[in-house]
Amino acid sequence: MEKPRFIMCFCTGECPGFSKLQLWPLINFVRNELDVEYAVIHPQLCVEDGDRFLADYLDPNDKERIYIVGGCAPVMQKKMFKEAFKAKGLNIDKQLIPLDLRNMPTEEAMKKVQETVEQVLKEQKA
Ligand code: SF4
Repeated sequence: MEKPRFIMCFCTGECPGFSKLQLWPLINFVRNELDVEYAVIHPQLCVEDGDRFLADYLDPNDKERIYIVGGCAPVMQKKMFKEAFKAKGLNIDKQLIPLDLRNMPTEEAMKKVQETVEQVLKEQKA
């Protein structure tokens, strides 16, 4: 089974919602300690260069891949990334797991990502 990929959308690095979150400890924890294919950071997925990134990045042939995106409210993420997934023929409801990591201290965000990765892997094995 394909391992999940983690993308941290860090909201320009200046959003007060992420002021408690230490980006580098989080991303290094995910890439080194969790069973993901890899973990990357994007500064702002919901603007035009974010759209261009997703257009390059999402693979239309990779219909089983799970993308875990750390960022803002899940409802907002789905709304903002809907077109990008649709344009590649991907199922956003199945392939995107949006995590709201705002207003969380680093340890709490790590735990939330860890639980999500473990859940994805468990479901893949079932
Ligand atoms: S998608 Fe959400 S977390 Fe990412 S930049 Fe936009 S508002 Fe911020």
